[in-house]
Amino acid sequence: MTRVGNTEKKTYKKEWRNEMDCERCFNSVNGIHTVSMFNTDTICMSCKRRERQHPDYESARKAESDAVKMGDMNFPGIGCPKDLQC
Ligand SMILES: [Zn+2]
Repeated sequence: MTRVGNTEKKTYKKEWRNEMDCERCFNSVNGIHTVSMFNTDTICMSCKRRERQHPDYESARKAESDAVKMGDMNFPGIGCPKDLQC
């Protein structure tokens, strides 16, 4: 099953470092971090705030919740919009 492979890859990627940095702006997350709605990046709260204000946030949120309803718990997101990437 390909999904197992994806999960393993994801777990590996998410192996916590002692000093967590935001995967989008590379600033220290200062102990508070969340996961992007657009992809699987671990991001800081200021990046999350920027996401929430993005016009595509609602569709990303909907795509994620639709995927979960379909039983896909590893939905990778719709992809980070170019204008949110630093
Ligand atoms: Zn950030």
